[in-house]
Amino acid sequence: MNIENYKQLLAELQPSNTRLVAVSKTKPATAISALYAAGQKDFGENKVQEIVSKHAALPSDIRWHLIGHLQSNKVKQIASFITLIHSVDSLKLLEEINRQAAKHERVIDCLLQIFIAKEETKFGLTEIEIHQLLTSETFLQMKHVRICGLMAMATFTDDEQIIAKEFSQAKRIFEKIKKQYFSGKDFFNELSMGMSADYKIALRHGSTMVRVGSTIFGSR
Ligand SMILES: *Cc1c(COP(=O)(O)O)cnc(C)c1O
Repeated sequence: MNIENYKQLLAELQPSNTRLVAVSKTKPATAISALYAAGQKDFGENKVQEIVSKHAALPSDIRWHLIGHLQSNKVKQIASFITLIHSVDSLKLLEEINRQAAKHERVIDCLLQIFIAKEETKFGLTEIEIHQLLTSETFLQMKHVRICGLMAMATFTDDEQIIAKEFSQAKRIFEKIKKQYFSGKDFFNELSMGMSADYKIALRHGSTMVRVGSTIFGSR
């Protein structure tokens, strides 16, 4: 864990009040404890098994974020404690989150993952699919999920112009959806974008939450 990098990152986020989700995937609980001791409370993981065991082993006031692709059959393992699911990429998944949240008498906060990258491999909903989801009767009946914004991942490239273009596209769609479906609803205010390699670009394009791992914890 690199405390200097962590502090520098917090200083960079401070002017825009952007939140940091420290991505601790593959890193041991001891590394998380060290960052927790420095004041960090929000941690992100991309695998259900890992987030479940770390949640059990670490302080209960840590806010756990699921940032990776989530399979419906695994939602029940995280439904009791998850703070925010960044990676909702289908109505079917959201239905299962709603069902499991109801069992725990909770409302689970979620972000819709929007597909903006050039790569075929990235998960996410297209803008049209987001509109379809938000207007579907199934979604409108859900009482145990709350959509708090969008999550986006840019193409993995050194070309900063491509990344900037994709992040600005995500921001534009975010504003449009906010206006169309969540006007006056203050909870729809999160745009999760930016990782170690591209968070500086994301900050310039309206990110409210960056998900940074290797800059803090070292390479994986
Ligand atoms: C791993 C991961 C990150 C963090 O990546 P770094 O390059 O280590 O900062 C962010 N978002 C998602 C979805 C990830 O899987």
